[in-house]
Amino acid sequence: MRLGVHVSIAGGLQEAIGRARRLECTAMQIFSRSPRSGKATPLSADLVQNFDRERRSLGIEPLAVHSPYIINLASAQESVWNGSVRLYQEEYQRCTLLNAQYLVTHVGTSKDAGEEVGVEQVAKAMGRTLDFLPKSPLMILLENTAGSGQGLGHRFEQLASIRNRVKAKNRVGFCLDTAHLFAAGYSIHTEEGLEATLQDFDRIIGLKHLRLVHLNDSKVPFGSKVDRHWHIGEGHIGTAAFKRIVNHPDLRGVPFILETPKLTEADDPRNLAMVHSLIARPSRRVLSHT
Ligand SMILES: [Zn+2]
Ligand SMILES: [Zn+2]
Repeated sequence: MRLGVHVSIAGGLQEAIGRARRLECTAMQIFSRSPRSGKATPLSADLVQNFDRERRSLGIEPLAVHSPYIINLASAQESVWNGSVRLYQEEYQRCTLLNAQYLVTHVGTSKDAGEEVGVEQVAKAMGRTLDFLPKSPLMILLENTAGSGQGLGHRFEQLASIRNRVKAKNRVGFCLDTAHLFAAGYSIHTEEGLEATLQDFDRIIGLKHLRLVHLNDSKVPFGSKVDRHWHIGEGHIGTAAFKRIVNHPDLRGVPFILETPKLTEADDPRNLAMVHSLIARPSRRVLSHT
């Protein structure tokens, strides 16, 4: 099982890789720039080479990059959409330079223009990015959302219809966030609910397109449509549910990334240790010393 953390890039990319190394991550996620301002440090050849070399030597794979929050590919406003697409294309190229496997993308909101228009705008933005830029092995992963406000992407049907409209659909996959699923009303906290959710995902999208799971507990109750990540086992999803999730056969081989709060230095190690303790290992015969 590949397990890692979304690590901060404060101090630069080398610092991010150092954090992932100290946490013994086998997968990692970063922002390539400030997620709210969009401010980016240029990626020099040296910087990229060192980062890539160290990541490979540590065997950290995949590297996922989370796209900045200021991008809204679903916008029905021409100026907002154009600016978002420009930034998204730039981000796609940065990810290609970094040899990232995945660009995790929020679908955005079309506000009052409605769902149909929003889905169309996102698909058009994907096309602009995938058809116009040089071909790259980088995959776009659409992430499900909590369903707050008028945000799209909280129903599997919406995510599927975006992918269906993209010409280069083999370069578009999905990332499921457990806290967002729970907040959006997918009852992954119960045994039957988890089965039903994965069956729905398989029927509507296809499990083979699931490339990444964001493993987060939720600070807010089921169906609340609010996005509040919390420490594994300490929120409303709970330990028993995470045990079923990390051991589920349908999720075997899918990397898990924690996006849990970092209130103290001890939080990431504690959350990782919790996940490790939930992973079932094949039982070993105990050797007797007598
Ligand atoms: Zn996200
Ligand atoms: Zn997430």
